[in-house]
Amino acid sequence: FTVPTPENEPVNSYAPGTPERESLQKKLAELAGTQLELDLNLSGEWRRGTGAEIKVVQPHNRAHVLGVTREATRGEWSEAVAAAKAARHDWIRTDFADRAAIFLRAAELIAGPYRDVLNGATMLGQSKTATQAEIDAACELIDFLRFNVSFAEGIYRQQPNSSKGLWNRTDHRPLDGFVLAITPFNFTAIAGNLPTAPALMGNTVVWKPSPTQQFAAHFIMKVLLEAGLPHGVINMVTGVGEHSEAALLDPDLGGIHFTGSTRTFQHLWQTVGQNIAGYRTYPRLVGETGGKDFIVAHPSADLQSLAVAMVRGAYEYQGQKCSALSRSYVPASLWKNGLRDAVVGMTEDIGYGDVTDFSHFGGAVIDGRAFAKHTALFERLQGDAKATVLTGGTADDSQGFFVQPTLIESTDPTHELFTDEYFGPINGVYVYDDNDFDAVVRQAADIAPYALTGAVFATDRAAIARASEELRYAAGNYYINDKPTGAVVGQQPFGGSRGSGTNDKAGSWQNLVRWVSPRSIKENF
Ligand code: NAP
Repeated sequence: FTVPTPENEPVNSYAPGTPERESLQKKLAELAGTQLELDLNLSGEWRRGTGAEIKVVQPHNRAHVLGVTREATRGEWSEAVAAAKAARHDWIRTDFADRAAIFLRAAELIAGPYRDVLNGATMLGQSKTATQAEIDAACELIDFLRFNVSFAEGIYRQQPNSSKGLWNRTDHRPLDGFVLAITPFNFTAIAGNLPTAPALMGNTVVWKPSPTQQFAAHFIMKVLLEAGLPHGVINMVTGVGEHSEAALLDPDLGGIHFTGSTRTFQHLWQTVGQNIAGYRTYPRLVGETGGKDFIVAHPSADLQSLAVAMVRGAYEYQGQKCSALSRSYVPASLWKNGLRDAVVGMTEDIGYGDVTDFSHFGGAVIDGRAFAKHTALFERLQGDAKATVLTGGTADDSQGFFVQPTLIESTDPTHELFTDEYFGPINGVYVYDDNDFDAVVRQAADIAPYALTGAVFATDRAAIARASEELRYAAGNYYINDKPTGAVVGQQPFGGSRGSGTNDKAGSWQNLVRWVSPRSIKENF
């Protein structure tokens, strides 16, 4: 058999007056009007965690509680691990076609009856606009599910040569242990992809979503069960990660599929490293982590498209995409002759507010911790002679965790604005003398400890070639004359190196191949 050829899911516009908008608005009202118990799910059974209570609120309207979840205790983590181990015997013997059908069915459920639910939950729980939710919770998640099936089929078809009298073959076995999937708050699609990609390849999984994303995660789990996922193949624990040691230190840990901050991944890696003799096999560690994503513009760049890229790249979803632009290197000629005014003007025109009002460009940052990180930056910048706030630089949490889109010019290319990840709507600008393009490219390449996304803007081909060579290791996703955000599954496999991760390219066969441990078989006749 061959699996269906995947196509990227079309994006709904939610334009005024469309039935899609009306239907989504109804679902938003329904979701906002009920307070859900956000339980854990072990072996297919919904159960209340027995640890401390965590209230899940709307970031843009923080008094509004969407649901209540409870931390899984160490005992509940152990039960999740036991459930994953118990389901393993049958799941590794389930045919690929039967596994694939479950995830293809999940994609159809999200494309149809669950689209509004997942978009609505992502808007309310993670403060995404309808458009940002649609490209994440609907389209990207559907794409992950459909394309992964096709990538997996390609992996299974990879077979060695045979010759007369002997047959060589590869048995693409699941890993020799369960997989721990730990997911961040910022993409519902990532929350769906991280547990399902290893499961598609025959592994059983313990999945811990971010508590700030528990609202959308709850519905992903429901979709998977409704699609026919056998009980115990994916087990969802709730709460904070610090109780995860029951899974992390288990001798049968086969791998970790992580997306989140560099600091957390390093902690997980260290924990595994310190326990390395305690495992039956070396756990596979796959992590997509932080970024300090950039644009370098050449004097030949098109001013208007550069300005739009700087605004959309830095401020969509409040700068909380791992790929979001946060440092820009621009030539003085463009900056002084219209670029500065264009970027400041557009930035001042966009408004953040309650995302259920579809006219807003963005919402709030995720929580009080993210908010405090930004107010601390703004305080540090006061009296900093090397940095000038051109617009923004204010924050207000009286209603929700709102941080204004902020553009800061610095005369020091080694300033923290060009090295530190804030994960919010902050863009640092360094203006260079037009003759210094090559030097500024070199600086951009190595100043930050990350290498996730980056872009060059130029119409001069020789400049593009020089920059692309110099920036070869500065970004795992590299754009020429486009903003550094918006990777599409099946088109731009996603991931970075250095402090940004193991670069195992989400949305490609390169990620899926990490979830198998091949056995080479030779049979003589
Ligand atoms: P985070 O704070 O590192 O959290 C990520 C996940 O790790 C959460 O579920 C978190 O839960 C858990 N965690 C934290 N400490 C843990 C521990 N000691 N043991 C086990 N689990 C633990 O990251 P975030 O704030 O959710 O996400 C933002 C970060 O993700 C940014 O740095 C961004 O660049 C990165 N990101 C990268 C990509 C990429 O593709 N490279 C994509 C998206 C996001 P608790 O906090 O509840 O413990």
